[in-house]
Amino acid sequence: MKCRWLSLLLFATLGLTACSESSPPVHKAKLFTLGTLVDVSVLHEDEATAQRAIDIVEAELAVINTQWHAWRDSPLTSINQQLTKGETITIDATTHAFMQQAQQLATDSQQLFNPAIGSLVALWGFHNDDRPEDAPPTTDKIDALLKQAPSMGDITLTATTLSSSNPAVQLDFGAFAKGYAIDQAIARLKQSGIEHAIVNAGGDLRAIGSKGKRPWRIGIRHPSASGVIASVETHGDESVFTSGNYERFFDFDGRRYHHIIDPRSGHPASGTVSVTVIHRNAATADAAATALFIAGAKQWPQIAQQMGIDEVMLIDDNLTIYMTAEMAKRIHLEISDAEVKIIGDNA
Ligand code: AMP
Ligand code: MG
Repeated sequence: MKCRWLSLLLFATLGLTACSESSPPVHKAKLFTLGTLVDVSVLHEDEATAQRAIDIVEAELAVINTQWHAWRDSPLTSINQQLTKGETITIDATTHAFMQQAQQLATDSQQLFNPAIGSLVALWGFHNDDRPEDAPPTTDKIDALLKQAPSMGDITLTATTLSSSNPAVQLDFGAFAKGYAIDQAIARLKQSGIEHAIVNAGGDLRAIGSKGKRPWRIGIRHPSASGVIASVETHGDESVFTSGNYERFFDFDGRRYHHIIDPRSGHPASGTVSVTVIHRNAATADAAATALFIAGAKQWPQIAQQMGIDEVMLIDDNLTIYMTAEMAKRIHLEISDAEVKIIGDNA
């Protein structure tokens, strides 16, 4: 009996502690970098600690943006000039790690994620802040580049050097650098003692911890209408990345041409309108969303498996929604009229 009173008392005390515990305040910053608006939200009791962490993130993102910009004068555009001339380039440890990660993801995706096709992306006019509204490139020009077949497999990396056996290799990390940058930002936040935060670059994000008593809740943009098509809550440390045909495109003669290029055809990938990937690592999620977009409704499960991605949602141009069983378990669709196909559900 005594024991029961004791446990009741303990329960009441714990209950009281939980009730009086409020969430730490949210500190927010908006940064314009990586070609988009980046929202950083940090939960911490101490404003100075939060602000210091945000400042570190801002500096880190600025460095990465400058380093990997594909068309404004940058260290990357110099690397590309040297690759054209067949030169060997001296690199530091950070660049080595970045290249190695991109090379591995290209291999895992069967070269659908192919950051060596910078010349094709440029040919389609996407190496521009605003794409001029002119005609798509001629088949001859596309075929000439396809024949040279640039890939990350042409790159030889050592700890301190980078070279290419194929002068057609032109690097463009538009499908990966945002994820890489967000991973670096989250690493800096963790080093600064932050346990609850979100770094959101135009809808692509990595979240750690929670938003006080509730999990972070993420909206996934509808690919062809305003508003969101689905939402998901993140737990622990997770990234959510979406590749969509609505992000960068131009219209010509009644047709839409978007920025995700199928390295096999040299044309914008057809059949898919968006792909969302959830994975712990943002760089992997970023590269995978692009690769699975290109893989399309038939091939994506095979590529996802090779890339070690369990949570995928692909929407095709009939607005049919394909998902892995793992994604279906946790995603909340905000529309009711879509056809949904769950792939690989052996339960
Ligand atoms: P994302 O929005 O992450 O899918 O990345 C699209 C961007 O990546 C494009 O704007 C190009 O800069 C670049 N890109 C286009 N096609 C490919 C591809 N097949 N592999 C790697 N990068 C690509
Ligand atoms: Mg991507």
